[in-house]
Amino acid sequence: MTALHVRGVLLPGAEERDLWVVNGRVRTRPVPAAETVVDGGFLLPGLVDAHCHVGIGPQGPVDLDTAATQAETDRDAGTLLLRDCGSPLDTRPLQERLDLPRIVRAGRHLARPKRYIPHLGIDVGEPERLPAAVAEQVEYGDGWVKLVGDWIDRAHGDLAPLWPDDVLAEAIAVAHAAGARVTAHVFGEDALPGLVNAGIDCIEHGTGLSDEVIAEMARRGTALVPTLINIENFPDIAAKADKYPAYADHMRALHARVGDTVGKAIEAGVPVYAGTDAGGGIEHGRIVDEVTALHRVGMSAEDALGAASWAARGWLGWSNLDEGTAADLLAFDDDPRKDLAVLRAPKRIILRGRVVR
Ligand SMILES: [Zn+2]
Repeated sequence: MTALHVRGVLLPGAEERDLWVVNGRVRTRPVPAAETVVDGGFLLPGLVDAHCHVGIGPQGPVDLDTAATQAETDRDAGTLLLRDCGSPLDTRPLQERLDLPRIVRAGRHLARPKRYIPHLGIDVGEPERLPAAVAEQVEYGDGWVKLVGDWIDRAHGDLAPLWPDDVLAEAIAVAHAAGARVTAHVFGEDALPGLVNAGIDCIEHGTGLSDEVIAEMARRGTALVPTLINIENFPDIAAKADKYPAYADHMRALHARVGDTVGKAIEAGVPVYAGTDAGGGIEHGRIVDEVTALHRVGMSAEDALGAASWAARGWLGWSNLDEGTAADLLAFDDDPRKDLAVLRAPKRIILRGRVVR
């Protein structure tokens, strides 16, 4: 394979650098006879979608071919690393495909009967069975486990937690002891203190965050992936829930204040990452919309970019562009920190050292 050469300002820095790419890895010293594929402009470590569902479509679970097309759509938008935040499909065959983004799998969603979208997750049954179910998903996934933290409880007509606090503490300890991290879907307020105090590593959505929980997450370093472009669907969810008026009102209220809620978390220093929630109601390939939304609620353009690139890569255990690291990068003519819309048209996408385009 011919060695490649790229030159540009290496983000997040300000310095123009020359990098070489050999056998899928970055080299910082000249490699003879390398083909120059980027000469000038800006180099960015590949984008990250920290909350994505490869294997879920608008009607529910999809087959492997459709899932591969979803991953291609993400890749063509510049997303070269996905945290798959729960999928009904075994996507491990896609991890063998060198042309698809790298996928960090969280296995299956863990939920209770009638307390999540049908056919997507595993019904754990009695809550006491959660620690054992977590242990299984640790084996099946790539270092992340996904819990459904709250969902509508139709008997009460509103959002409610799925798990008692002591069960959460035990389940999260099981994952941590095995070297895995845990995240949870949470829309409302009530499930959050129990999850955060149990030592959960990340909260998805987090629309119900109070000032107290935000302060505790900042203190502990608990991450937040708000999936702002998915929260835009809350009024639609509410409109379809006329049988449950309290729930519908609750969803509308959470939606109305989400900009403030996430803005406060950013302000408090909670590590916030960009995730689209692509799969069901959200199309794949929309990471730039989420970056833009994070900027709109208070992140600087540079931090919003980092939340979908260098910072998120570090959080997920992937390196940025340095000697010997994975050659996953994007190139742009203009500085995306000055105008995030620049992200919509990478002039080069290089994945595993190969030019995608
Ligand atoms: Zn999701």
